[in-house]
Amino acid sequence: MKDLIRKNIKALSPYSSARDEFTQVADVYLDANENPYENNLNRYPDPYQKKVKKLLSNWKCISTSKMLLGNGSDEVLDLIFRVFCEPKEDNVILLPPTYGMYNVLANINDIQTIEIGLNDDFSPDVDAILKVQNANSKVLFVCSPNNPTANVFNISVVERLLEEFNGIIVIDEAYIDFADTESWINRLDEFPRLIVTQTFSKALGHAGIRLGVAYASEEIIEVLNNIKPPYNVNELTQQKAIEVLEQGKFSEQIEVIKQERDKLNYALGELSYVNKVFPSDANFILIRVEGANSIYNQLLEKGIVVRNRSTQYKCNNTLRISVGTPEENEKLIEEMKSL
Ligand SMILES: *Cc1c(COP(=O)(O)O)cnc(C)c1O
Repeated sequence: MKDLIRKNIKALSPYSSARDEFTQVADVYLDANENPYENNLNRYPDPYQKKVKKLLSNWKCISTSKMLLGNGSDEVLDLIFRVFCEPKEDNVILLPPTYGMYNVLANINDIQTIEIGLNDDFSPDVDAILKVQNANSKVLFVCSPNNPTANVFNISVVERLLEEFNGIIVIDEAYIDFADTESWINRLDEFPRLIVTQTFSKALGHAGIRLGVAYASEEIIEVLNNIKPPYNVNELTQQKAIEVLEQGKFSEQIEVIKQERDKLNYALGELSYVNKVFPSDANFILIRVEGANSIYNQLLEKGIVVRNRSTQYKCNNTLRISVGTPEENEKLIEEMKSL
């Protein structure tokens, strides 16, 4: 893993903040040029979000030293690019159709992308991926459950990638809490080049607080910590995350969303113009229809917005539909029956 880190990143000495240098408790804090009048937010936040990590550690049964928190998964993914990918030299491997941010972040960081399309059943083409990798292939992005296709990838397929891809493997588990398969965070010790990302944006119901998590070996987490902005997760977000994890309201919501997904799956399959409902391990469903643009526009006229994914690789005439509340899903089905 050490050989994969960019030279300048290996060599740098990280910024040392006031809260890094003094971590005990004092009566009077005169070390960070803050406004001294207390208002709950006048102090800089904990740069290592220790309370949030402790709660995540209890929930996920994984050491706090194996996690990094960021301003959404987007920041976490960007930090991964900046640690491992040398601009204009290195490349990353993407498996379209998949989450658009990997490509955007590659472009921002001036990193070439190599695209190996998923097979017709939306599984990774392992042989093609392993064949195309070269010495500059630093990161492979594996999104499972995949957005927009909604499927989790087969365990043995991912194991082969973890064993035979020579760079960092990022498994994006934004939707893992809706799947019935185990998270790859339980197998970090077996695969030293694995990084698993998760988020508060989907199952945990807090897209608005912007909180993403990377789980990886202590060695990887240490380098990511060295380059992250010192106060990248703000105090309001940390406070809210603690509340979310302590209250645990999301577990019931996840169960309802999964039941609703299965109901929607059935109801959508009954519509004459729906040619295929792709099986879902996430909180959305991809369907293939007759005339996706027309269906999309008709739904919009009825006040319902879905995502038209028809321009994505192997996704012609597809719509991606998020699972809503039971009332919203009922309205969707009623309206769709009338089209
Ligand atoms: C929604 C989503 C995320 C979440 O990104 P945040 O920046 O954490 O909101 C990450 N990955 C995938 C594949 C997603 O669909």
